[in-house]
Amino acid sequence: MRRSKAFIPTTKEVPSDAVLPSHIFLSRAGFIAQVSSGLYNFLPLGKRVLKKIETIVNEEMGSIGAQEVELSFVTPAELWQKSGRLEKFGKELLRFKDRKENLFVLGPTHEEMMVNAVRDRINSYKQLPLHLYQIKTKFRDEARPRFGLMRGREFVMKDGYSFHSSYEDLNREFNTVEAAYKRILERLGLEFRVVRADSGVIGGSGSKELMVLADSGEDTIVVCHHCEYAANIEAATRGVRKEIPEAPEAEFNRFKTPGVTTVEALAHFFKVDPYYLVKTVAKRAVYDDDSEMVLFFLRGNDNLQEVKAMNALNALELVDVGENELLESGLVAGFMGPLDLKTCKIVIDVELQHADSMICGANEKDYHYVGVNFSAMKNVEFSDIAEVNEGDTCPHCNGVLSCTKGIEVGHIFKLGTTYSKALKAEFLNEKGQREPFIMGTYGMGISRLVAAVIEQHHDENGCIWTSSTAPYIVNVMISNINDDQQMSFGEKLYEQLREHGVEVMLDDRKERFGFKMKDAELIGFPYTVIVGKELANGNIQLMERRSLMKETLSAETALETIIKRVST
Ligand code: ATP
Ligand code: MG
Repeated sequence: MRRSKAFIPTTKEVPSDAVLPSHIFLSRAGFIAQVSSGLYNFLPLGKRVLKKIETIVNEEMGSIGAQEVELSFVTPAELWQKSGRLEKFGKELLRFKDRKENLFVLGPTHEEMMVNAVRDRINSYKQLPLHLYQIKTKFRDEARPRFGLMRGREFVMKDGYSFHSSYEDLNREFNTVEAAYKRILERLGLEFRVVRADSGVIGGSGSKELMVLADSGEDTIVVCHHCEYAANIEAATRGVRKEIPEAPEAEFNRFKTPGVTTVEALAHFFKVDPYYLVKTVAKRAVYDDDSEMVLFFLRGNDNLQEVKAMNALNALELVDVGENELLESGLVAGFMGPLDLKTCKIVIDVELQHADSMICGANEKDYHYVGVNFSAMKNVEFSDIAEVNEGDTCPHCNGVLSCTKGIEVGHIFKLGTTYSKALKAEFLNEKGQREPFIMGTYGMGISRLVAAVIEQHHDENGCIWTSSTAPYIVNVMISNINDDQQMSFGEKLYEQLREHGVEVMLDDRKERFGFKMKDAELIGFPYTVIVGKELANGNIQLMERRSLMKETLSAETALETIIKRVST
């Protein structure tokens, strides 16, 4: 491609809402252009990167026998009604009516559609397993679209769905897909971790996320330094605490604690470790058609993990409650506790199940109970609702857990029969009985991956594409296009590289050298060949983008050297 003809609108301007390097550089280097909140155009360079990722994904999916399809983007709301997700997905689902007043939804994911596509077409266990996938635009009316391609409203997802006659076969496929996903990310040149995940609104059990490691990641991952354990903080668990602080000695009693309303103040007041204090978090849990106030109780040194808390209640959302709302329920902020509480639902963290010598609020202003023994409590539910802390013990070995940040680029689930049952998609088993399909679902964020590559590979000058994702591998830059020797050498090298199958750009613009160099660094071609004044002495230069190191090459043997360099 000749740069003089290419549509690559690079700019110095940073989009006003851009904070992440990928958002800034992909916009500035002319890969993408924002249309509206969470909506982006892919310009020629962006489209090339997207296609490269898609090709790798297609190859790896083909290698495990998955077949590509393309389902309609506009999906009948009726299918969503049947699965129960018309409500569950909430406002993220973009709904609209056609001219005949039929309700439709823009597909945010395609479980319902894929089950519908297979239903009545696959009838026997003999036709299973079946794995279908697509690479397709999705739409989610995200509450906070941000970070450019990272969290768009319209985005490209690879979504795959597998159908099985047994759970053993689903497990086998799940492992096969996990291995293929790992190969994809390795080929893209990304550093990543596979982590245990929460299954979210899609449902099902057994789910893993593929996380590209990056400081800017929206997800927190808990990893063990000793073994393979890695989990999203939303699903992370921990082993038994190794060092237990010394317990306070006190008989059960009601104690006056005037004005002592925080965990810190209480720890100071009683001179005890927060481990022996009960922390209360009040939230309003929102369900399909109603809501209720819930009090969560944890040890004073723990924090509530909201996704775990929502799962414990099967709630759609947790919202904060104000002091007035507490008062209306007869609760006193700063002095709430689980004993004798009748006015609202309570959930107690599993850590407290056998706890004694605890101190908690007495549900009365300026009073706490001391010497509280949780094992004596009757008719209460204990659930894992605490967030794992840095330094906690690994649930698998005795290692120490720590936290790091990741970008979720893939999510694979063992779905089971949730959707096949809801949509009555069945097959005849070996005994001739009807059974719902056992399913797996496998998503990968293709457009998010474009951003993830840059989050992991950039410097202050711009993008640094990996060899498998670069829109062009070599940029042949003619320093002065009025110099006939430079021009004809550059043109020839460009043609020869093309003939050797190298993806090459020829920067033949009438611009200053410094400007063209900055542009090349911003775009992030892995190599830039500088055809400049030195050509008169038989030399050119080759710059590697990652290191910004320049190497002088003899013009005569430059072609072979460059070909060798780009093929290693
Ligand atoms: P997130 O937790 O980031 O909102 P999700 O868990 O809702 O994502 P899935 O339903 O698992 O997403 O979708 C599969 C993949 O699609 C995700 O792993 C992610 O890479 C990608 N993806 C999801 N939402 C978006 C979005 N708004 N913009 C870009 N990619 C997305
Ligand atoms: Mg997910």
